[in-house]
Amino acid sequence: ISVAKKDDKGKNIQVVVRCRPFNNAERKASSYSVMDCDSGRKEILVRTGGVGDKMPKKTYTFDMVFGPSAKQIEVYRSVVFPILDEVIMGYNCTVFAYGQTGTGKTFTMEGERSPNEEFTWEEDPLAGIIPRTLHQIFEKLTSNGTEFSVKVSLLEIYNEELFDLLSPSTDGLQMFDDPRNKRGVIIKGLEEISVHNKYEVYQILERGAAKRKTASTLMNAYSSRSHSVFAITIHMRETTVDGEELVKIGKLNLVDLAGSENIGRSGAVDKRAREAGNINQSLLTLGRVITALVERTPHIPYRESKLTRILQDSLGGRTKTSIIATVSPASVNLEETLSTLDYANRAK
Ligand code: ADP
Ligand code: MG
Repeated sequence: ISVAKKDDKGKNIQVVVRCRPFNNAERKASSYSVMDCDSGRKEILVRTGGVGDKMPKKTYTFDMVFGPSAKQIEVYRSVVFPILDEVIMGYNCTVFAYGQTGTGKTFTMEGERSPNEEFTWEEDPLAGIIPRTLHQIFEKLTSNGTEFSVKVSLLEIYNEELFDLLSPSTDGLQMFDDPRNKRGVIIKGLEEISVHNKYEVYQILERGAAKRKTASTLMNAYSSRSHSVFAITIHMRETTVDGEELVKIGKLNLVDLAGSENIGRSGAVDKRAREAGNINQSLLTLGRVITALVERTPHIPYRESKLTRILQDSLGGRTKTSIIATVSPASVNLEETLSTLDYANRAK
C-alpha cells in the first residue's frame, strides 16, 4: 500500500534541481565547487566539508538534475512539456522556481536576451520558460485546430501586498474569496491581457519588466523579497466527432519565488530575519502547504498567506506541480545551497 501511495505522490509534485555555472564574483573570492551533478542518476553530491576523498559529502536524489551546462531548452522540454499537456487537457498546474537570490530563478523562468540582438526573441537560446511556454501553446493549439484564446496576468506579492505588473496603477490590489468557486479567489482589478499571437508575448513581458524596475526603486530589496506569479489561462473549445461541443479551461502559473535566504534553514523564520521584520509569510506558508500535500495531511494551510490563497486552485488535488530548485556550485554559498536542497528534498 505504501508503495502505491508513494507513486501517486511522485506524479503530482515533481522536484528538480538546476545548478548554474560558476560566476566571476565566486571565482574572485577563490571559491571552489562543492557540487557534482549527475543528470543520469538524478543525483547531486555536495562536499560539505572541503575537498578531498575523506571529506564529508551529502548525496541527494531528485526527479531530475540539471548541471551547469544544461540549456534552457532542455529544462523547458523536460519540466514543462508534460505539464503543458495537462493544462491543455483542462487542468490547473504550477511551476515554481525556488532558491537563493542570484542562483538563476529569473534566468530559468523568464530567461534573457543574447547580446547584440544576435537572435530574434523567439529563437533566442537564452529564452526561459515563460516565452517558450506561450510559443508552444500557440503552435500546439493552432496545429490541432482547437478554437482557443489565451489570457495572461502578472501579479507580484511583496510583504503580503499584491501588485499588478501589467497595469499602470501602482495601488495594491484587494483579494476576495470567490463566492462561486470554493478553491478560488477574485483579485479585484487584476489586468488579464489577451494574447493573440506569439509575438505579443514580448511586449507584455517588457511591460512587466519596466514596472518591476519602478517597484525596485520604491520597495526595499524588491526583487529578492517579492514573488512573481505569471498566470496563463487557456480557454479551449472543441467539437467532438459526434458534433458535441467541449469547453475546457486550463491554467498554468509560472512562479518566480522570493529568495530562499528569506527563510531559515529549518523552514522556520530565523532570529535574524524576524528581528529585521523580514518574515516572508508567503514563502513560509508555501513550504507548509507543500509539506502538507506531500504528507497528505487533511488540513492544508492555504489560507495563511496571499501566495497560497492565490494558488489554491492550482496546488493539490488533480493538479501537477513542479518545483525547480536553483543552486550555486560555489563553496561560498554552501550553507544556502544545503538549505535549498533540504527544502527541495522535503517536497519530493
Ligand atoms: P535569481 O533570479 O535567482 O536571483 P538570476 O536569474 O537573476 O537569479 O541569475 C543571476 C545571474 O546568474 C544572472 O546574471 C544570470 O544570467 C546568471 N545565471 C543564472 N543561471 C544561469 C545558468 N543556468 N546559465 C548561465 N547563467 C546563469
Ligand atoms: Mg530573480
